[in-house]
Amino acid sequence: MAALAQARATEPKVGAYLLLDEDGALDQARAIDAARKAGRPIGPMAGVPLAIKDNIHVRGLPTTCASRILEGFKAEYDATVTARLKAAGAVILGKTNLDEFAMGSSCENSALRQTRNPWDTSRVPGGSSGGSAACVAARSAWLSLGSDTGGSIRLPASFTGVVGYKPSYGRVSRYGLVAFASSLDQVGPFARSVRDVALALRAMAGHDAMDSTSNPAPVPDYTAALARDLKGKRVGVVREYLDKLPNRDVARLCEGAIARMQSLGAEIVEITLPHAEYGVQVYYVVASAEASSNLARFDGVRYGLRVPADNGIATYVATRGGGFGPEVKRRIMLGTFALSAGAYDEFYGRAARVRTLICRDFEQAFARCDLIATPCAPFPAFRAGEKSDPLSMYLCDIYTIPASLAGICALSLPVGFDSAGLPIGMHLSAPALADDKLLAGAHALEQSLAADKALGLGRAPAAV
Ligand code: GLN
Repeated sequence: MAALAQARATEPKVGAYLLLDEDGALDQARAIDAARKAGRPIGPMAGVPLAIKDNIHVRGLPTTCASRILEGFKAEYDATVTARLKAAGAVILGKTNLDEFAMGSSCENSALRQTRNPWDTSRVPGGSSGGSAACVAARSAWLSLGSDTGGSIRLPASFTGVVGYKPSYGRVSRYGLVAFASSLDQVGPFARSVRDVALALRAMAGHDAMDSTSNPAPVPDYTAALARDLKGKRVGVVREYLDKLPNRDVARLCEGAIARMQSLGAEIVEITLPHAEYGVQVYYVVASAEASSNLARFDGVRYGLRVPADNGIATYVATRGGGFGPEVKRRIMLGTFALSAGAYDEFYGRAARVRTLICRDFEQAFARCDLIATPCAPFPAFRAGEKSDPLSMYLCDIYTIPASLAGICALSLPVGFDSAGLPIGMHLSAPALADDKLLAGAHALEQSLAADKALGLGRAPAAV
C-alpha cells in the first residue's frame, strides 16, 4: 500500500502517528480487493487510506489521548465516525498524535511524542489535531479525522497547507470521541482538497441515536453541492482583522483570496463581530469548566493507569497527579474554580452570557452575507519550543474560537505561502447546517486558486 510506504519514509522526520497499524491496514485492503474481485458491493471510499486522531475510538486499538493516564486502555467499540467510514470502505492506517486530551495548539502537549511540520521540521504542525494534519500534508494518509473544540482542526490545517473542516455543531456524531468540552466538540475531516472533505463528510454526517446532540436534519449530497459557484454570493469580511494583523503575509494572502472570490462573482460586504474579541476569554472559561467535569472519569479505577496508594482518595490523587500533564491539570483547576460556589456567577455565568452575544453577532452578520472570510491563524507555523507561556499558545485560536462558540460550520483552506515558504490558510464560515454552502464556496475558490500557478498550491512539502 502506497500510504504505508510513504509513512515509513516520512515518519522518522514527521512523527504524525502514535500507532501505525500496518497489519490491520493490509488486512482491510485485502478484504476490499477480494470484495471487488468477487463483484460484491464496495463503498464510495473503498481503499481510501485514513488516519484517526487518537481521541477517537477504533475498536481493538489503544485510545491514548496522548496522555499517560490512558496507559493500557484499548477501545472496546468503534466511534460512530469510525464505523461509518469503515462501512464506506476506508482503510484505517493508524492513530495520530495530538495535544494531551486535545488541549493545545502545537502538539507539544502530547505526553507521548513530538510531531513536526512537514514543510519545515523545526516547526510545529499546529494542534491539537497536529498528527492528523501532518500525515495528510506528508501524504502518509489520504484522509484523516480530527476533533475541533476551539480550532483544533482548522489551526493545524492552516499550518500544514491542507483543508481542515469543522462541521456545524451536531452534524457529526461524537459517540466514541473522548469528550473535552461537550458544548463545543465536533469531529471533522482533513484532506488535500475540498472535494475529498465533502466526500468524507457525506459518509460521516447524520443523526446517531448514540449521541443525543447529533442533529436529525437530513444529510445533503455534499459532493453534488460542489457544482454551485460563487456568483451572487455575499462574502462578509471583518475589515479590521485584515488591517490590524501584524503578520502582513497572512493579511496579503487573505486579501488576495477575497479578491479572487469577488472576481468569481461574489459580492464582498463589510461586517462586524463586535463581541468576537472576547472569544478566547469566554472559551477558556466554558471549555475548561466542561473539561473539569468530563475528565473526572479518569480516576484510576475505570480506565487506564492506576497508581495504587493506601486508600481510595490517595489512589485518585496519585493516579491523576501522575497521569495528567501540566496543561490538562491547569484546565481542570481553572474549570473547577470557574464552577465553584462564589466564582460561578462571575466566571461561568458571565462567560455564558457573552457567548450568547457572540452567537447574536453571527446571526446579525449572516443576515447580510452567506459566508464569512477571515484569517485562520494570526501567523504561520511557529518553531517548536517558541511559545512557552500558555497565554501566547491560547491566542493562536483568536480567529477560530468564535465559530466554535456559535456552533456554526467553518474550515481552513490553503490560500498560498508566506515569504519563508510556509503555508497559510484562510478561514471560511457559514451558518449552522449550511455545510453544503460552505463547501461549495470553498471549492469554487480552491479551483480558481489552483489554476493560479504563481501561488504554488498543490506542491509537496519538504519532508515528503
Ligand atoms: N487550542 C485550543 C485549546 O487548547 C483548542 C483545542 C481544540 O480545539 N481541541 O483548547
